[in-house]
Amino acid sequence: MPRLSLAELLMGVIVLQQALAALMWWLSARVQVVPRVPALHWAAAALWAAGVVGCTVLGQNLGLAFSHSFTNMMAPGVFILLRLGLQILLRAPRQDGEHALVAMLAVACAWGGHLGGAPLFWGIATASLLNAYCLLRLAQTVRLPVRQELGLGAVRLVVWPLRALAGVFLLRALLALVVPPGAVRPLYVDTPPNIIVLTIMMTLGLVMHLVLALCVALRLVRRLHRLSRQDALTLLPNRRAADEHLARLLARLRAGQGGFALALADVDHFKRVNDQQGHAIGDRALAHLAAQLRAQARPVDLVARFGGEEFVLLLPDVDAATARAVAERQRLAVAAEPLRLGAAALPLSISLGVGLARADDSAESLLARVDAALYRAKAAGRNRVELEA
Ligand code: GH3
Ligand code: MG
Ligand code: MG
Repeated sequence: MPRLSLAELLMGVIVLQQALAALMWWLSARVQVVPRVPALHWAAAALWAAGVVGCTVLGQNLGLAFSHSFTNMMAPGVFILLRLGLQILLRAPRQDGEHALVAMLAVACAWGGHLGGAPLFWGIATASLLNAYCLLRLAQTVRLPVRQELGLGAVRLVVWPLRALAGVFLLRALLALVVPPGAVRPLYVDTPPNIIVLTIMMTLGLVMHLVLALCVALRLVRRLHRLSRQDALTLLPNRRAADEHLARLLARLRAGQGGFALALADVDHFKRVNDQQGHAIGDRALAHLAAQLRAQARPVDLVARFGGEEFVLLLPDVDAATARAVAERQRLAVAAEPLRLGAAALPLSISLGVGLARADDSAESLLARVDAALYRAKAAGRNRVELEA
């Protein structure tokens, strides 16, 4: 068995690592853990990287000029694919024209140079410049999502290695131009600069895929978090979100940072709507009411579906009189806007109970007072507002 140089061994590790990354993305696209198209782009980028590094080693036998030209031509494709996948995932604007231009330049410089008999160092210099450019653009694209998903520390972790590798490529381009031809040795030859470049490539190859996977996982967690707090019918926050917000407002009140009021709105005779119009129209009526309540509320107010045909309003920084006036405004707005059913109109009304939170309140005690007020509003004839006793 032929003895492998350290550089060849490192390149073998990179090929294996990238092949595994490609397999991981392909599998995660298949089981639909990750959006399919970005995952397939990253799988292709990893395979492409494995191919380029593999061809560099195997191409030794095909002649230095050939293997150099081939790999120089192909290398920018890795960074273009990584960036494209990210842009598709984020629905960010894509620079297809720029990518096509870079790809054409890579082919023209490396392959055209090879066929046209240009000196080897030209191929190395131009390809290194293009790689550096692609890496810097990738670093730019990666910055914002990584910052949003993982925070500032992670930005440094991802962006700086990408820039460092871009720096290495720039240095390689410069060396190719200033040192005598032949002094910049192919990557599979054991020289200190090559070992450094390969070590950086190996580390970055791993970090890049890990960070992408982490970003995707965190996006998924965030999406689940959002969905678990949203009511599917009305698209309002649901009971869980309302409970969490109520707990936050109570903590704020206890810390002396401002009070709030709570209102419960219950649709009047909603069973009749279902019985007479059918469940589907009942659902439409609930969505209509939710939109009405949200439209009347301030941005700081929380309007949530509390359950069934009940809605909760959390109104920070209001006194009892204002809270009552807000509830009254909501009641009038609902009564004034029936659900349109073609030419017909389905009148709707709500009854509301309103209460002001006290420093010694728990969520249960506040809700019990407001519920009692709502009960009185119902008992007094519906379509009205009652303040807590
Ligand atoms: P009241 O004025 O006393 O509140 O009368 P009501 O008929 O509204 O009283 P009740 O609370 O007993 O009825 C609520 C009805 O709301 C019963 C239930 O079928 C209906 N409901 C609850 N959730 C939904 C839903 O998601 N869609 C539809 N269509 N109906 C729902
Ligand atoms: Mg009810
Ligand atoms: Mg009701």
